Amino acid sequence: IFITYSQNEKFEAISHVAASLAHEVRNPLTAVKGFLQLIRYGSLEHGKMEQYIDISLMEIDRTETVLSEYLSISKPPGKQTGKTNLSQHVQVIMDVMSSYAIMSNVEIELEHKPVVPVWIIANGDEVKQVLMNFIKNAIEACVEIPHAKVSISLNLADRSVLLIIKDNGVGMSADQISRLGSIYYSTKSSGTGLGLTYSFQVIRAIGGSVAVQSEPRAGTRFTISLPLYDFEEEAPAASTG
Ligand code: ADP
Ligand code: MG
Repeated sequence: IFITYSQNEKFEAISHVAASLAHEVRNPLTAVKGFLQLIRYGSLEHGKMEQYIDISLMEIDRTETVLSEYLSISKPPGKQTGKTNLSQHVQVIMDVMSSYAIMSNVEIELEHKPVVPVWIIANGDEVKQVLMNFIKNAIEACVEIPHAKVSISLNLADRSVLLIIKDNGVGMSADQISRLGSIYYSTKSSGTGLGLTYSFQVIRAIGGSVAVQSEPRAGTRFTISLPLYDFEEEAPAASTG
């Protein structure tokens, strides 16, 4: 099933964004404040303090994620100019997400990667954010699944590279698949529903496309196709005189 972008969703009024952002940030703040008060004034049982601090740190991490998702969505994809090494970004983001995977009890593996660097024309920071969104979703789809596994592979095709992100998580129904990328669409109690909206925008700006195969209770496979940087189109060094 190929996702098309014909929906052309307009962003909701700024007041909606502000309201949901306030909601997303206030909850963790309230939780952290409560824990700090308990630590400050409570007579804590042995071991409770560490537990409260750990939960607070997790809440703060989540707030950071939410803020960066809101920031990225408010900033439309920039002009794609320079070439950037996709295989390197995949490696970096897998490292970044490894602690999240361990905490979520999900194995994450790089199934295949070409030996040569994979160059695409894109903004590296945007590409990393996109990789992070897909990998994070895949991990979140696997929580509480036994033998949970997220596999990532990069494969060279004719003039494009196929980035495949596969999980054996909860999967999606056809109806859920059709809603992917809609702004604020989320099935998670603490989701923002912004990750894929942003990611699809960036992929479209790069000239790529996304295909998804999914089945409830079996898992999901996203195939992201991105045009390869064409070295032959590179202007030859100008010879003057
Ligand atoms: P969020 O992660 O905040 O919910 P996203 O835009 O990243 O928002 O994802 C939107 C929704 O798409 C998720 O809530 C989930 O229902 C669905 N989804 C995305 N990736 C997967 C996946 N790998 N497996 C199952 N469902 C997914
Ligand atoms: Mg997400």
